[in-house]
Amino acid sequence: MFETVIGLEVHVQLNTKTKLFCSCPISFAEHQNSNTCPTCLALPGALPVVNKEAAIKAMRLGYAINGNVNHSSNFDRKSYFYPDSPSAYQITQLTKAIVQKGEVFIDLKDGTQKRIGMTQAHLEADAGKNIHEGGHSKVDLNRAGTPLLEIVSDPDMRNSDEAVAYLKKLHSTVRYLDISDANMQEGSFRCDVNVSIRPKGQEEFGTRVEIKNINSFRFVADAIAYEVQRQTEAYEDGIYKTEIRQETRLWNVDEGVTKSMRGKEEAADYRYFPDPDLRPLVVTEEMIAQAKKMPELPDAKIERYINELKIKKVDARVLCSTKELAYFFEDMLTTGAKAKTSVNWLNTELLGRLNKAGFNITTSPVTAVKLGELVSKIDDGSINGKGAKDILDVLMTEDKDIDSLIDSMGLAQVSDDGAILEIIDAILEANQAKVEQYRGGKDKLFGFFVGQTMKASKGSANPQKVNELLKERLA
Ligand code: ADP
Ligand code: MG
Ligand code: ZN
Repeated sequence: MFETVIGLEVHVQLNTKTKLFCSCPISFAEHQNSNTCPTCLALPGALPVVNKEAAIKAMRLGYAINGNVNHSSNFDRKSYFYPDSPSAYQITQLTKAIVQKGEVFIDLKDGTQKRIGMTQAHLEADAGKNIHEGGHSKVDLNRAGTPLLEIVSDPDMRNSDEAVAYLKKLHSTVRYLDISDANMQEGSFRCDVNVSIRPKGQEEFGTRVEIKNINSFRFVADAIAYEVQRQTEAYEDGIYKTEIRQETRLWNVDEGVTKSMRGKEEAADYRYFPDPDLRPLVVTEEMIAQAKKMPELPDAKIERYINELKIKKVDARVLCSTKELAYFFEDMLTTGAKAKTSVNWLNTELLGRLNKAGFNITTSPVTAVKLGELVSKIDDGSINGKGAKDILDVLMTEDKDIDSLIDSMGLAQVSDDGAILEIIDAILEANQAKVEQYRGGKDKLFGFFVGQTMKASKGSANPQKVNELLKERLA
C-alpha cells in the first residue's frame, strides 16, 4: 500500500495598480507592448524600485496565514533565457522571502479540520507573453514585471481532496483579503502540483514530479489521480527507480494524461544570486499597520456564524466559502431577516434558482436586500413558504416590489385566529365522523384536517396557526 504526498506552489497575481518594479500600469488589454518602460523592458541603466502596495499585500497574506513577516527580505536573480524575459533573469526571493512559515486549516469531508503548513510566500515578477501567429512569433511585454506572490506549501497533503480543499481555502482567502482577483481562467491564480508516493510507513519521501500551471480545481484532482496511478504502477512493475524521475510535467486536458516537459532544473542551473540593483525590502511601521488592516477571515466568520447566529456548521461553511456569498448573507440580515430563515432561503432557494438559470451569486438578479425583505415577510407571518417561493420565481425575472406582489398574487397569509377558526369549524362540522375517529385514537387523521383547512383557505392560512388552533379544537 502506498501513501500519496502532495505539496503545492500557487502563483497569485497581486491586484496592484502598477508593476512590481516600475510604475507601468497593470493592464493586458492595451495595445501590445504599450504598458512598458525602460525598467520592464530591461534596458541598460534602468533601475527597479519595489512597489510598496505589492509588499503590503504580500504582508497581509503573511499575517492572515500566521506566518512570519520579515521586516527585511531580499531579492534574487533567477537566470533563464526565454524571449518573454528581456533581462534573461527573473527577480524573485529565494533566500529570504517576505513571508516565511505559516499555516492554513482545511475542512475535510468528515467534518474535521487539518493543518497544512506553509513554507513561504515570496514576491516575484511575472514574464511577458510569447505570441505565435501565422508563421511569426511576437513578444508582448505588457505583463512583464507584474507582481506575483508565490505561495509554497509544505508537502502536507495526502490525497487530492485535501489538495483541492487547500486550494479552495487559499483562493477564498486571497479574495477575502482583496490582494488578487484570483481568476483562474485568466491565470491570476495558477498552481503547480508536486506529487510523489511512498510505501505506507516509510519515512523518506519518494521522488516528486511537478505538474505545472494547472488552472482549474478539477484538473488538479485529475492530474493527481493520473500521477498517483502512473507512479504506483511503476513501483509495482519494479521500474520506479528508472521510470519516475524528478521532472516537470504538463497536464494534457484532452488526453487526460501528464506528459514530461523537461527534467527538473537544479537550483544551480538558475545561477541564483542576490540582485545587486535592489536593496533589502525593509518594511515600515506604517506598512505593517496597513497590512494588518484586514476583513474578518473565513475561519473567524464561521465561528461567529455558529456561536452568535446559531447557524449549523455545514451551513456556515457553505456561506463563508466565498466572500461574495458571505457578504450577500450579511446584507440580507441588515433588513432584519432572521439568520436561520435567511440561510435556507439563500443556500437552497436562491442558489438553486441561480444555478438553474445560469447565474451565480455576483450576477444574481435578486439582490441581497430584496431576498432579505422576502425572508422578513416569512418571519413575521405575512406570507408562507409556498407563497414566498412563487414570489422568488417572479423576482428572478422581474424586479418588483414585494408588497405589491403579495397583493397582486393574492398571497397574503391569514394569521388571524378568528378567520382561521371559522374555516376550521366548518371543516369539523362537515366531517363529524372523522372527528369521532380522531378522538377515538386515530391520530393520523390530524393531517387530513390540516390539509382540508389549508385547502379551504386556498393556501393562505398560516400553517403553524392552523396546527395550533386545530389541536385546541380537537382536544
Ligand atoms: P522547487 O522550488 O524546486 O520547486 P521546493 O523544495 O521549493 O522545490 O518544493 C516545491 C514544492 O514541492 C513544495 O510545495 C513542497 O511542499 C513540495 N514537495 C517537496 N518534496 C515533495 C515530495 N517528495 N512529494 C511531494 N511534494 C513535495
Ligand atoms: Mg518551485
Ligand atoms: Zn515598466
